[in-house]
This record gives sequence, structure tokens and C-alpha cells, in this order.
Amino acid sequence: MKYRSTRNKSFLGCSASQAIRQGLAEDGGLYVPEAWPSRSIDLDICTQGADKKFSVFAARVLAPFFRGDILEPYIPEICERAFQFQIPLRELNSQVSVLELFCGPTCAFKDFGARFLALCLEKLSSLESGSDSRPNMVLVATSGDTGGAVAAAFSEFTKIPVAILFPKGRISKRQEAQLTGWGPQVQAFAVEGSFDDCQRIVKEAFRSEAWQSRFQLISANSINLGRLLPQMAFFAYASCLAKARHQTSTGFIIPSGNLGNAVAALWAQQLGFPIREIVFAHNANQTVPIFFASGVWQPAVTQSTLANAMDVGIPSNFERVLDLFPKLEDLRERASAISVSDEEINETIRQGPTQWGQVWCPHTATAVFVVNKHLGIGKEVNGIVGHSKAGRHKQNSENTWVVVATAHPAKFESIVEPLVGRKIEVPASLQALLEKPSQVQIIGPSLECLSEYLLKVSDVV
Ligand SMILES: *Cc1c(COP(=O)(O)O)cnc(C)c1O
Repeated sequence: MKYRSTRNKSFLGCSASQAIRQGLAEDGGLYVPEAWPSRSIDLDICTQGADKKFSVFAARVLAPFFRGDILEPYIPEICERAFQFQIPLRELNSQVSVLELFCGPTCAFKDFGARFLALCLEKLSSLESGSDSRPNMVLVATSGDTGGAVAAAFSEFTKIPVAILFPKGRISKRQEAQLTGWGPQVQAFAVEGSFDDCQRIVKEAFRSEAWQSRFQLISANSINLGRLLPQMAFFAYASCLAKARHQTSTGFIIPSGNLGNAVAALWAQQLGFPIREIVFAHNANQTVPIFFASGVWQPAVTQSTLANAMDVGIPSNFERVLDLFPKLEDLRERASAISVSDEEINETIRQGPTQWGQVWCPHTATAVFVVNKHLGIGKEVNGIVGHSKAGRHKQNSENTWVVVATAHPAKFESIVEPLVGRKIEVPASLQALLEKPSQVQIIGPSLECLSEYLLKVSDVV
């Protein structure tokens, strides 16, 4: 399997491991498969693989995507080590199930992609040792959950140093603990500025000659193919489980921000897995819902909301969506998008225990809001922007839905606990991190400030 860039279609394809190493293609586009594997392989997995362990299932789904690659023989072992936690699809009623993607070490779905990516890079370094004398360095900007998942994965599986930039004072205490408690391999920098400043600094480092001559920089953000592919595998897996239970293909409702999970689900659908339709549930950042409604792509300034890991005004994976569906009508056949306000998130969390017997995190609540709307329960507070096929669904009350739960509510206790009126139990892996001593360096919002710490003292890193 070869990968091409979304921008230059005549570009000679590169291998999976090159795409994973590079993150972004040279022309600034994102890597996508040159051709889709044939459907017949997948239907076989669909009937025989649904009751298998996820790690075994994932290795089979991913095999064609690494065919001919230096990593090909190692994919089963990488999946086995990466996916050692549960991935429950819990039935809430005869129509609605919830896919709990928060059972990994940092209690958010980003553990899947980060762990798979870390293991791929570790394997690549051992296979390619000696070809490049520059040390590796992972550099990542985070507004919420990415940094924690990357820090956890790289410190468990690799010796590669990690530098994380986050906006000082703008993330939750528990999110911050997941960035700062890892010891010397992971250095956390609290930037006196916004998330956009953090991203700008990281981009400048990737373009800087001084940085490039010193390090082989690795980008671990959500445009990396090594994060998307395992996410595609969990949508394939859940769709097979749902099909086995209900004998019909299911719809997914996905809390979305940068559209990584959205693309992963579209790719699973493209492979022929039984996915009836996909709904992207966004928070008040409406760029995608407005596009679905009007066909106009208008990048917007990011708004802060209760679902902070989805606060994205210009979703970077959108290029991959358009690459697969250049025509809006075709995209609308497969998917729809809506925007959910903070008020609606609050109300959905508040009603969670009585409506569903569940405590939802603010991100998951956006998806639950959508399922409530389709089932005709719950309150609609604001008008909904976007293109929704609710009319068609009403005619078919048999449709089944999988709500994707992207994070554990305990990570957002300051929002959730007052709404449901009780304490949320903290998962053991999160508790262990909260107890570690934290180390953080405060820096000004420029690359020079970061260079002070990382370029000058890099022999110690
Ligand atoms: C990152 C994140 C999202 C958004 O996912 P995308 O793939 O960027 O759309 C949603 N919920 C949680 C908890 C996240 O951490």
C-alpha cells in the first residue's frame, strides 16, 4: 500500500512508515491511501472476527495498509502491545449502545492512536538505527488530551524525549497533571499564550534549520497517519459487534473537533464495514456544520467551550474528508454534522443519570444530545446549525445507534460533578498520575523561549 498527499495527486506515493515518520507531506497536504483494499477481505473479518480480541481484529484490518512496508511483519505484535485495555460496546437499550473508548491509561480515545504511533516509531528506530545521527524528539502542542496520551505512550514504550507545549492556565487541573508528571523524558512547557501560540511555535520549530540540524523532529498530532489507522480499526470492530447483535448496520455519532475520528469512521465505512451513517457532533465551533448546511468552508476563530478537546476553528483533517468526497452531495449521503451549545451539553450531562443511568463527559454529551434528538427525548435549547437527516430517521424508528464516548467523566470533574450532584470515581491509572510530582517550565510565547531550554541543553536531553 502506498500513500499520496491530499494536495498533489500526481505525487509519487510513499510507504506507510515514511508517512508516519513525516506526519505532514512535503507539499503541506495530508497522507491518504492511494487505493482502497478490496472489500472481500473485510467481509471475512466481519463475520469471523467480531468476537475476537480487538488487538487481533485490528491487526487484520490494518494488514493491507502496511503491505510491503518495513513494519508489515510487526503489526500484530504492535497491536498486541498497544491495545491491552478494554473497548466495551455497552447496550443502553434496544436501539442505542455506547462505545467506551476511555479505558486506556489517560482515559481518552487518544490512547489508541498515541500508543500505536509510539510503538511504530520505536520499531522504526530499531530497524533503521545508524542511518541518521540526529536524536529523535517528539514535539507536540496540546489543548487538552493529546499531550497526555502522547506522553504516556512514549514514556511507556520508547526512550524518545517528548516536549509538550500547552497554554498556561487554560486546561483542567487533571489534564495538566497528565502532562507534567512523567519525569525527565517528558518535558512540559506552560506557554504564556493561547493554544494557537503553542501550535505556531511547534510549526516554527519544524521549519527551523537550527532545530532540524539538531533533531529528527517527530510530529504526534492528529494528522499523523499512525494515529488515524488504529482509530479506523475501532470503528470497524464496533460496527461488526453491532451488526452481530442487531443484524443491521449501525449509525455512529462522534464527538468531533479536528475530525480525526470522523475521518477514521469514514475510512472504515469506505472499507465496506457495516456503517449506515455517521453524525459529527461538534460543540459551538460550527465550521463543519456550516459547511454541511451551505457548502461554504469558512475557517473561524476558535471558541472556548465546555468540551475543550473539540475547540477547533479550522479542523485540519477536513482535507481528508474532501479528498474522499469532493462533492458535498456524496458526503451528505454518508454523513451529517451538527453543532451543540454549552447549554445543551450542560443539560445533557444533568439528565444523564435519569435518562440513561450514565454520567457523560462534556465531549460525549454532544453525541448523546444528538441521539436524544433522534429519539425525540431531551430538550433542544438552541436552534441547530447543520445538515441533519432527522426527517428520514423518524420514518425508520428501527435504526440503531452507537454513541462514541471519547473521554472518562472523571477528567472533567469540575464541570460534571456539580451537574450530576455527586462525586465521580477516579480510574486507577488517572489517580496514579495525579499522585506523581509534577514538573513544568513556564515560557514566553516564542520559539526562542523554547530554544533556550531544548536547543542549548540538548546534550542532557
Ligand atoms: C480529541 C478529542 C475529541 C475530538 O476528536 P477529533 O478526532 O479531533 O475530532 C473529542 N473528545 C475528546 C475527549 C478528545 O480528546
